[in-house]
Amino acid sequence: DKCSLSIFFFQLERTFIAIKPDGVQRGLISEIMSRFERKGFKLVAIKITVPSKDFAQKHYHDLKTRAFFDVLCDVFSSGPVIAMVWEGEGVIKYGRKLIGATDPQKSEPGTIRGDLAVVVGRNIIHGSDGPETAKDEINLWFKPEELVNYSSNAEKWLYGVN
Ligand code: GDP
Ligand code: MG
Repeated sequence: DKCSLSIFFFQLERTFIAIKPDGVQRGLISEIMSRFERKGFKLVAIKITVPSKDFAQKHYHDLKTRAFFDVLCDVFSSGPVIAMVWEGEGVIKYGRKLIGATDPQKSEPGTIRGDLAVVVGRNIIHGSDGPETAKDEINLWFKPEELVNYSSNAEKWLYGVN
């Protein structure tokens, strides 16, 4: 049908996005989600959870040799996280653009970190940095049945499918 055709033609990708404990505690959940939603990306999975330190270490395993790894995992497991999967054409790369540079001092105004954060250790949001990490992180955080397949009414206007 048209829905699966659109997935075929536009190569809709999925990425893992998390609002970190500092973003949740600062009341920025809806502000952050609205930036992805208004852009035209589609929410296909969401949960609120307090990650254990062990889980945080799994999520950030790529950074285990870095000096800040232990502090990073402590902060990440210090409170509720909003874990999400967003879908759309180019969402992995463009999601990183919406988020902005890792260090909020270097993030452009208009980006999430640029507008809403000040220091690197409290930069409020995580986003997968490429197709492989997106796949791994979605699998780490969600069971396959927690990902919801649906077509949104906006898609034909976003992508121009007739
Ligand atoms: P990201 O993909 O933009 O989130 O950046 P990285 O994957 O390189 O690092 C993961 C997270 O570790 C970042 O979002 C920061 O919260 C934290 N981080 C990165 N570099 C530093 C640093 O130099 N010092 C501290 N304290 N935290 C850092
Ligand atoms: Mg990263």
